Amino acid sequence: MKMINVTKSSLPSYKKYSRKIKKLWKTKHLTNLGFYHNELEMKLSKYLLVENLLLYNNGHSALEFAFEAIMKKGEIITTPFTFSSTTHAIIRTGNTPVFCDVKYDYTIDESKIEELITEKTIAIAPVHVYGNICNVDKISEIAKKYNLMVIYDSAHVFGTKYKDKGIGTFGDISMFSLHATKVFHSIEGGALTFNDNSYKEMLTSIRNFGQINPENIKYIGGNGKMDEFRAAMGLTLLEIIDSEIGKRKLVYERYIQNLKHLDGIKLNYVQSDVTSNYAYFPVLFENYKYNRNEIYELLKINNIISRKYFYPLTSEFSAYKGLFHINETPLAKHLAKNILCLPLYADLNLKDVDMICNIIKKGVL
Ligand SMILES: *Cc1c(COP(=O)(O)O)cnc(C)c1O
Repeated sequence: MKMINVTKSSLPSYKKYSRKIKKLWKTKHLTNLGFYHNELEMKLSKYLLVENLLLYNNGHSALEFAFEAIMKKGEIITTPFTFSSTTHAIIRTGNTPVFCDVKYDYTIDESKIEELITEKTIAIAPVHVYGNICNVDKISEIAKKYNLMVIYDSAHVFGTKYKDKGIGTFGDISMFSLHATKVFHSIEGGALTFNDNSYKEMLTSIRNFGQINPENIKYIGGNGKMDEFRAAMGLTLLEIIDSEIGKRKLVYERYIQNLKHLDGIKLNYVQSDVTSNYAYFPVLFENYKYNRNEIYELLKINNIISRKYFYPLTSEFSAYKGLFHINETPLAKHLAKNILCLPLYADLNLKDVDMICNIIKKGVL
């Protein structure tokens, strides 16, 4: 019996990619902000409708660099309903996460942010989840009122638009992951976007050991550079990304058709003014005849791999034992316990979507 994984990477044609990288055997310029790297930065900033975009070796290190750009340490208000990366990056850069609860759209509950602000608060780090966006208008308002920076984890919202604006134009800095499992990728890779040009010097040089030029090392940087092979993957994939997202949309809509009438489950909310990228298909098994774990197992014995994503909450990680109380974010806790992401990728067959849904409906194949 064939196996259906929760995700499967999009790829350009082998011919297109190999033709692209063939040039590298001539130039022998393999990394260090090369030609493809610069071309991808330019093309992505256009595609994402942002002022400034810088590439990095992965989303996580980009996020750490973004937190370093705050230039001070303190408390950062964020959510525990996210991938380990968000919370790890806050702590690894010497800051303290302060967890805010989420809403039923899985993003930060903006009405609960203000009560968490203290003298030590330096920033808000909300996460756009599953392609859903945070309440960016309200968050900007709060940040302005308390003079806080806003750094978005935008790993899930590549290409998403809000009121026809690129989602990376909101807040001070946004991090996009270009990891192979994301909607768009460069195998491994990440990007930061920002409006304010004053971040440019630091965020550009910090990925290259803090070097402004070989004789002026102005920042205590690291190595966060994207190489030419990955940039070439990004460039060739960018040519087909709209059709890949279009195919995801068909899968997404097929799931909705199949599942919308079921009692006791919640499908993802449709947000107004948002152009989605159909990144994930989360289902909340709240009062369904089978609970989340039962559905996960039912699918698994049929060779279908779904994902308990996000579970556990980052605040529950054994790495942070004793540091946080998960009861402080009751809805996040509830969602983590009942959420399941079903397989979703551009090449997923619609008949397979029907089969997955039939297992969910009947408990058998
Ligand atoms: C994937 C992901 C990251 C990390 O990105 P990488 O490119 O894998 O380092 C961070 N946050 C969220 C929410 C993610 O899904």
